[in-house]
Amino acid sequence: MGAHEDGLPAGSAPSTPVAAPGISERSAGFLLSHTPLGSLVRAVARLRLSVHFKLLAAFLLVAVVVALMGAMSLEIITRMSRQSEAMHVAHQRVSSARQAQHALAMQMSFTAMALVLRDEATIASILRENNRLNAMLAEIEDGAPLEEREIIQRIRTAQGEVMATVADVANLVRDGKIEEAMGLQLTTGYPLFQQVEGLVEQVVRIEESSMGRLRAATALANRQAFYLMGGLIIASILLALLLGFVTSWSFIIPVREAQGFLGRLAKGDFGTRVVVPNQDEFGALAARMNDMSAELRRLYEDQREAARQLGTLNSQLARASQAKSEFLANMSHELRTPMNAILGFTEMILDDVYGEVPAEVRSPLEDVQTCGRQLLRLINDVLDLSKIEAGRMELSLTDYSVHEVVETARTSLRSLAAEKGLEFTAEVEPDIPLAYGDGKRITQCLTNLVGNALKFTKEGTVAIRARLDGDRVVYTVSDTGIGIAVDQLDHIFGEFRQVDASISREFGGTGLGLSITKTFVELHGGRIWVESEPGRGSTFHFAIPLRLAEVTEGT
Ligand code: ADP
Repeated sequence: MGAHEDGLPAGSAPSTPVAAPGISERSAGFLLSHTPLGSLVRAVARLRLSVHFKLLAAFLLVAVVVALMGAMSLEIITRMSRQSEAMHVAHQRVSSARQAQHALAMQMSFTAMALVLRDEATIASILRENNRLNAMLAEIEDGAPLEEREIIQRIRTAQGEVMATVADVANLVRDGKIEEAMGLQLTTGYPLFQQVEGLVEQVVRIEESSMGRLRAATALANRQAFYLMGGLIIASILLALLLGFVTSWSFIIPVREAQGFLGRLAKGDFGTRVVVPNQDEFGALAARMNDMSAELRRLYEDQREAARQLGTLNSQLARASQAKSEFLANMSHELRTPMNAILGFTEMILDDVYGEVPAEVRSPLEDVQTCGRQLLRLINDVLDLSKIEAGRMELSLTDYSVHEVVETARTSLRSLAAEKGLEFTAEVEPDIPLAYGDGKRITQCLTNLVGNALKFTKEGTVAIRARLDGDRVVYTVSDTGIGIAVDQLDHIFGEFRQVDASISREFGGTGLGLSITKTFVELHGGRIWVESEPGRGSTFHFAIPLRLAEVTEGT
């Protein structure tokens, strides 16, 4: 699924944001898809051999070619040294043939000189040159072809006759018969010399032509060696390139495929598969990846099913919560009416509307009134909370005075402060313009905070302050009461949250006031926060827009 069946690099990892392929990348892609190299790469990948073995085999193959080249160079060097040896011998033979020619010429001139000089020394020189000629002929004869050996034989025969004539000429000279000697030399000696000279000339030509042939053969062999070595070098470079290309791409392809696979996986395409031709470690890795992908898909399906069930449960819970909130809202609304009636009648009784109340009944009646008021406050809180939860809480927006808000809160709790003997102050920045919002709810918020401050303070001061900060009004209620532990500061604005049971037992309360206050402040687009130090007191602040609509429109 999603994998390139042919395993070629072009676009094999479409999901991975890689840089545009370079020229070498493009040419590799072309070679793989348009030449048999692609099939070769896949064939190598398909080999059931380890990566280690494949690499080793490729390097060994290149090493074998290099060794082959070394062996061939050795062979060529040996052949060339043999050839130069043969050339040397051929040179020597040519030079011997020339020396033989030279000895013959000298012999001829010494014979002529003997006729003129008539001395023994010249005659001895004729014999020396004859010996030199014979020695040279012996050197050439050794290893000469048959035809040449026959010529040498003929030279020897003719030379024998020459020497016999020379001996006769020498005897005639010694006897003083110069005329006769000259006649013999001209009629017999000279023609014989010419015959020998012709034969020696033939030997020289044979040796020279055999040296010429050897030289041409050496030049040809050198050229062949040059082409052979050049061919081998080119072939080994091509082989190294081919092996490098094929082995590297047989590894690169699965890596590319894995890249694409991981890219698809990262995009959430679980169950995607990676298909590689490899039967080596890369193939095993691809199989593992496919298993992993299938497992991920299974987990994903499970998780989706769980999320779906959770969603169903959530909506059931939400419906249940909605039903509960509606029930509470209706209930508290229904409770309020009789409660107000009880309080109204109690107040009328205490005001002696139904006749004078005996002194001993007055005190319990006042307790009834106090408890009734507490109960009504609680019912109101529950009603507010359930309205908030049911999403039915609406603000009723009008112009209101910040002074009035503070004054109302202060007046309603002044008697409580007096009862507890606490100093109770209120300070409002003068000239705060008329505010716009739900004044009653803001008063409720402030009253809640002041009520808490009075409740949790045994001695000292509770102070209310209101000031303008830009387009917001900041209300502050500070006390010198028990304070709140740091780890509780984040939690006290939650529903039904009280710092600890012993405190709530001592001071009473439900844990709803701050949560409702926070909701009203936030409905006004404001925020509430607290600073406190256990044992030294707390300071609550809340800031809300002075003109709710204007800020909302403006932002
Ligand atoms: P309660 O009805 O319990 O007062 P609230 O929501 O008004 O509920 O307050 C939550 C809790 O926060 C209180 O129970 C109390 O532990 C703590 N708290 C609130 N105001 C103060 C204060 N001024 N000083 C100390 N603790 C306070």
